[in-house]
Amino acid sequence: MSLTCSAKDCRATAVWSLLWNNPKLHTADRRKTWLACDEHRGPLADFLTARQFLRAVEPVDPVAGPDDIGESDDGGS
Ligand SMILES: [Zn+2]
Repeated sequence: MSLTCSAKDCRATAVWSLLWNNPKLHTADRRKTWLACDEHRGPLADFLTARQFLRAVEPVDPVAGPDDIGESDDGGS
C-alpha cells in the first residue's frame, strides 16, 4: 500500500503525517491527518502553522497508515 501526498495535484508518495486540529470544527483531542511528501511537508506545515492548526508532524508509518483521512467518525477514544 502506498500513501499519496495530500497536496493538490501531487502524486508523490507521502513520507510525513501532519496532524492538525481546527478548534472551531473539532474537539480538542481530535486529529486530522494530512499526508505529505518531502517537497510538500514545508508548505503544508506552513499553511497549518499560520492558522495555528498544526499539532504534530510524524513520519508516516506505512504499516499502520493514517486512520483519520477525511470526515469519518470522531474516534471515540
Ligand atoms: Zn507532495
